[in-house]
Amino acid sequence: MSAHVLVAGGGIGGLCAAVALARAGQSVDVLEQAPRFGEIGAGIQLGPNVTRRLNSLGLHDALAGVAARPDALVVRNAADNAVLARMPLGDVILRKYGAPFLCVHRVELHGVLLATAHDMPLVTLTTDARISRVVTRGESVSVGASGAREWRGDGLVGADGLWSIVRERVVASTLPPRPTGHTAWRALVPCDSLPVRLRSADVQAWLGGQLHAVVYPVRGGDWLSLVVIAESEMTATDPSDWDQDSSAAALLHAMGNRCDGVRPLIEAMPAWRAWTVNSRPPVAGPDEMVNERIALLGDAAHPMVPHLAQGASMAIEDAVALADCVGDCGPGSLPDAFARYAAARWQRNARVQAQAKRDEDLFHSSGTMRLARDAALRVLGARLLDAPWLYEG
Ligand SMILES: Cc1cc2nc3c(=O)[nH]c(=O)nc-3n(C[C@H](O)[C@H](O)[C@H](O)COP(=O)(O)OP(=O)(O)OC[C@H]3O[C@@H](n4cnc5c(N)ncnc54)[C@H](O)[C@@H]3O)c2cc1C
Repeated sequence: MSAHVLVAGGGIGGLCAAVALARAGQSVDVLEQAPRFGEIGAGIQLGPNVTRRLNSLGLHDALAGVAARPDALVVRNAADNAVLARMPLGDVILRKYGAPFLCVHRVELHGVLLATAHDMPLVTLTTDARISRVVTRGESVSVGASGAREWRGDGLVGADGLWSIVRERVVASTLPPRPTGHTAWRALVPCDSLPVRLRSADVQAWLGGQLHAVVYPVRGGDWLSLVVIAESEMTATDPSDWDQDSSAAALLHAMGNRCDGVRPLIEAMPAWRAWTVNSRPPVAGPDEMVNERIALLGDAAHPMVPHLAQGASMAIEDAVALADCVGDCGPGSLPDAFARYAAARWQRNARVQAQAKRDEDLFHSSGTMRLARDAALRVLGARLLDAPWLYEG
């Protein structure tokens, strides 16, 4: 007999877990707090470590229909636009790692996962279900939402993001995530509304003092997604606190006069949304990911600064690893399967969290550290930008 698994949260991680677990033969209830399943507009980079896993879930064709496959990663100086380093992506990455480097609109990646989950008889999708209670009784886990609604399963996966409720049942002394002092501004623009000189089929990153910006193609290459991450005093925790005008004004203030190389692209964006960047210290052990019949994945377990562009990717890696460990096991074996999952995942997640933090320090460095960084990028180029430890994993 297979198990019944509850998944709290229908974001990229939760839906991916539902698809992967259902493919393994488990029945899954996905419980999402929002009135509709959805994602906010922004891009997402998917390295070969994660496209390989999405392909293993049978999503290759659906992904190919919406993703862009960038030609190269180009790193520039934000002050004068000079190229510091270049790494070919496209076929070079595909040959080296056996899977492509893709860029997608988050809404479209989420849509691919949602449509796949929707078509799976073993998956039940429920909205308007904000989980506020988690109770373990013997060999079952129950979760409750408003209106005295309750769901019971053999196990629970907390994929409920940065402000996870489920996390409290795994990490007893959990403190809230901490703001890093950085704000992320995101914008999307159709390429045909941009001057030709600002269009690009590459991932381009500009490094400046206390700021960096990354642009890449999405929607099959028809749109560009731009994210700017800067040290900023603004501390809104909810994007809805930000209106477009104050968001754009805060970005221009954070940029100062240091970023003339990337300014034309920033000024060409029609609208911005801003997020306060929060994170937690790296996962310290398997018991920070699993407690008996409750497992965490994605941002609920290991939120990270976005400098390595791997947060959603680690959520997807978690989801596939969880389903691999659970396989077609029955209810009685779920705690052992979850324990194997935590053992398999915690060190990689911790390493990626730590590397993302190191990249934050490096990307926004100044003085001699910045000079050394730029010199190393010029000399080592692709050898410094490539990440076999990450992409082969
Ligand atoms: C600026 C920026 C750029 C980024 N770029 C990249 C990138 O290029 N590549 C990449 O891999 N990652 C990137 N990330 C990271 C990525 O966005 C996150 O790591 C990822 O979205 C986490 O997915 P998740 O499913 O774990 O959580 P979430 O996406 O937060 O989903 C959680 C879901 O749970 C629901 N929920 C919450 N609480 C409850 C509850 N109590 N009951 C029921 N449902 C609940 C929420 O409504 C939501 O649907 C970036 C992040 C930022 C800020």
